[in-house]
Amino acid sequence: MGFEDARIAIVGGGLGGMSFANAALHVGLTNVELYEQAPQFTEVGAGVNITRNANRILDAYGLKDSMLWKSSRNPPCYMEYRQYKTGQYLGQIDEFGQPASRQIHRAHLLDALKERIPDSVLNTGKKLVSLKYTGSEYELSFEDGSTATATVVIGCDGIKSVIRQHLGITDSPIYSGQVVYRGYVQYSDLSPEAAEIFRKTVVFRGHRKHILTLPIGNDESNTARIGVIGFMSESLSDWKSESWMATAPIDELQKHCEGWAGPIQELIQGLRKSSPDGRMLKQALYVRAPIDTWFHVEQSNHSHGIVLCGDSVHSTLPHQGQGTGMAIESGITLATILKSWKAGDDLRPAFQLYQDIRKPRTDKVTKTSYEAGLLASADLPEGFTDTFKPELLKERMKWIMEADVLDDLYRRGAPYFEPKESEGEANPSPVQANL
Ligand SMILES: Cc1cc2nc3c(=O)[nH]c(=O)nc-3n(C[C@H](O)[C@H](O)[C@H](O)COP(=O)(O)OP(=O)(O)OC[C@H]3O[C@@H](n4cnc5c(N)ncnc54)[C@H](O)[C@@H]3O)c2cc1C
Repeated sequence: MGFEDARIAIVGGGLGGMSFANAALHVGLTNVELYEQAPQFTEVGAGVNITRNANRILDAYGLKDSMLWKSSRNPPCYMEYRQYKTGQYLGQIDEFGQPASRQIHRAHLLDALKERIPDSVLNTGKKLVSLKYTGSEYELSFEDGSTATATVVIGCDGIKSVIRQHLGITDSPIYSGQVVYRGYVQYSDLSPEAAEIFRKTVVFRGHRKHILTLPIGNDESNTARIGVIGFMSESLSDWKSESWMATAPIDELQKHCEGWAGPIQELIQGLRKSSPDGRMLKQALYVRAPIDTWFHVEQSNHSHGIVLCGDSVHSTLPHQGQGTGMAIESGITLATILKSWKAGDDLRPAFQLYQDIRKPRTDKVTKTSYEAGLLASADLPEGFTDTFKPELLKERMKWIMEADVLDDLYRRGAPYFEPKESEGEANPSPVQANL
C-alpha cells in the first residue's frame, strides 16, 4: 500500500494550503481533504508577486495559462527604484530569467490554484477548534460541530497557526516595526505620465518608509490595476487590530507621505477614487523566528503525524516577495516525500527529510527578507543616490530566484518528474526514490 492511501487533512485553504493541495494532486496523493475556516475561499490585499522559482512549480502543475490570463505579462523589469521626494529614477533590477515574475490579484491566484482541485476535496466553513489523537487516528473537530479523521495533518493555517501548538511551540509573532497600508488604483485615475511609471513594479524608497506598487493583471482580461503596499514605521500603541481585513482612513497613508513625489500624491488620490468610504486595508506586519521542529509524530504509532507548511512554519517579511513562493516550494517538497513513503512506515525520517531540505532555505529567506526591509526603508544619507547600486540588490536575491526545486527533487531521486531533456540526462526508467 502506498502513502497515497493514507488520509491527509490539510488545515487552511490560503495560498499555502491550496498550493499543497495542487502538489498532492500532481504527485498522486489522492486521499486528501482540505478544511478552510472561511465560508468561502477569499484573498484580499494588494496583489502578490510570484517569482520565477515558484512559477516554475506552478507551471509544472499546468497552471501557467490560467495564471497568465489574469496576471501581468512580461514585465519590463523585476523592480524599479525611485527617490521618494523627487521621484528621481535610481535604477532597476532586471528580471531573473524565465519564467518571469507575475503580479496578480490574490483572489485570481487562488482561483487558478483551485482550478484543478476536485470540489469534493475542498471544505469551507470548517474552523478547526480541536485536534486530538484517539490512539488510532487524528480527530479534527470544527466550530460547526462536525468532525473529520486523518492519518496525517498538514498545518497550512498561517502565521497564527493553531496547529503549531500541537508541536509544543508557544512563541508569539514578533512585530516588525512596520504596518502595511494596502489598496488598488485604476490606471485611468492617473495622469498618463504617472500611469506609465506604475506599469512596472516600483519602490519609492523613503526614510523608514517605502511604497511598493505592483502592476497586477493585464488589459486583455480587464484585470489591470496597480496594487499599492505602503510600508510605514509605526508604533503599535496606536494600532491594536490583528485582523487581516482591518481598515484605516487613507488620510493616514497620506500623512506618512507628506512631501513625497507627485506620482505618489496621484496614487493616493487614485486610492480615494477606488474606495467610496475613504478607507484602505491596514495591517501590522509580524514575523516569527525560525523554529527547530516542524513536525510531530505519535509515539504510539510512528506512521501518524502532524507537519507544518507555509506561514505556519516559515513566515517571512514580504520584502523579497517570497512568502507564497516558499509555501509553494515547501508544498511540492513535502508532497513528493510523502508520495515516496509507504503507509505504515515511520513518518519521522520523511518529515525530518522535508525539514532538512527546506529549513536552511526558508531560514535564509526569513533572515535576508528582514535585511531587505531595512534596505528598502533605509535611513538614507544625503547623496545616497550616487552610491545606490541596484545590481547589488539583484545579486543578493539570485540564489532565491535561480533555485529549481523540481529539478532538485528529481535529482534526489523522486520518480515523479520527467528529467529535463535539454540537459541530455534523460533516464528512460524512473529512478528509485532514494529521498
Ligand atoms: C503585505 C504583504 C505582502 C506580501 N507579498 C507577497 C508577495 O509579493 N509574494 C509572496 O510570495 N508572498 C507575499 N506575501 C506573503 C504571503 O501573503 C504569505 O506567505 C502567504 O499568503 C502564506 O500563505 P499561507 O496559506 O501559509 O497562510 P495564510 O495566507 O495566512 O492562510 C492561512 C489559511 O488558514 C485558514 N485558517 C487559519 N486558522 C484556521 C483554522 N483554525 N481552521 C481552518 N482554517 C484556518 C485561514 O483562514 C487562511 O485561509 C506578502 C505578505 C504580506 C503581509
